[in-house]
Amino acid sequence: MSEIKPQICASCGKIVSPEKGAVKFSCPSCHKYTFWRCEMCRSFSNTYKCPVCNFEGP
Ligand SMILES: [Zn+2]
Ligand SMILES: [Zn+2]
Repeated sequence: MSEIKPQICASCGKIVSPEKGAVKFSCPSCHKYTFWRCEMCRSFSNTYKCPVCNFEGP
C-alpha cells in the first residue's frame, strides 16, 4: 500500500501536479516542511507560510 498525499499549493491552496509546472521545495527557514507551489503562484511570487516555523515569504 502506498500513501498518496495530495499536493497542495502553499499559496493558493489548489491541488497541483509536477507535470503542470508545480515545484517542490523545503522551507528556507527551518527545512522541516515541504511546500508545493503551482506555476501561477511561482510567477506571481505569491506568499506562503510555513506551519512549522511560521516563516512567511516568496
Ligand atoms: Zn498556487
Ligand atoms: Zn519553516
